[in-house]
Amino acid sequence: MSFTSIPAALPSPLTPFSLDDWPHDAPCVWVKRDDLIHPYISGNKWRKLAYTNIEKAHHVMSIGGGYSNHLHALGYKCATSGVPFTALIRGNYADSLTPMLIDLQSWGCQIHFLSKAQYAQRESSTFASWRESVFGPHTYIPEGGSTRLAVLGVLDMMKEISMLTKLHARNLPTHFVAPVASGATLAGMIKGSNQSQYVLGIAVLKGQNYLEDQVQRFIDTGDTNWRITHDFVHKGYAKSSPELLAFCNKVNSTTDISVEPVYSGKAFYALDQLIKQKHFKQSDNIVIVHTGGLQGARVNSNQK
Ligand SMILES: *Cc1c(COP(=O)(O)O)cnc(C)c1O
Repeated sequence: MSFTSIPAALPSPLTPFSLDDWPHDAPCVWVKRDDLIHPYISGNKWRKLAYTNIEKAHHVMSIGGGYSNHLHALGYKCATSGVPFTALIRGNYADSLTPMLIDLQSWGCQIHFLSKAQYAQRESSTFASWRESVFGPHTYIPEGGSTRLAVLGVLDMMKEISMLTKLHARNLPTHFVAPVASGATLAGMIKGSNQSQYVLGIAVLKGQNYLEDQVQRFIDTGDTNWRITHDFVHKGYAKSSPELLAFCNKVNSTTDISVEPVYSGKAFYALDQLIKQKHFKQSDNIVIVHTGGLQGARVNSNQK
């Protein structure tokens, strides 16, 4: 099949944001609209793959869940580059392909389902040899696309924020906020900030200590201007709560941005709560990164 690759829209805009029930002394909030970069390579997945050069690969492989934004982004990138791609999927969706998997299939990607036990072994050397023996030589990109190159891509986003802040004659951000899953996005934000700025990660899955370690592997021990809050997980990854869904609906119907309950909704919900709890000063300048999340919106419309 043939593809026209859609170019990325960069730099993504930095736009003001507020909600009508915020206190009068709420801080200034700006949204870095990485959700607008590309219709298929959603948000931070575009940043994370920007330096991953797959053009010369013979066969690319990666791993993730049935709604993974990363697999969707990488599958699209491989398809537009004419590189064979295999997605290893946690669990068996053969009888009920998710919208993400249907896209992969229509782009000619290969899908291989893994049992939960196999998936749990994904970091082991036995798993790597299993991959080699079943699929032959391939370029393997870890879950979420989280590599050192991914962190470099996120650094470019931080440079755009500085550039746009100057362009709008705004004060420098005091805080950066973003959702955290595999940690590379937050790591890039920490590396791209200075010690007088604070980076707050919003955990979207249960993983106290685990998520901190995921971030720490990409940054220096001297980087201490960051923290992850685990207070807004809402029961677990891709799990929701009536409060979270109501909040997403409110943002989607009353503002010009769209959020979904898996990533961006949880991050914006957390920021909303922290603002209402007066966690910030009125003089603070917060930049929340809209990391995208096409597949998360599809979860929302597909789950009963
Ligand atoms: C993958 C993803 C994240 C998590 O980013 P990590 O670098 O894995 O922490 C956040 N938001 C969206 C929309 C994502 O697709």
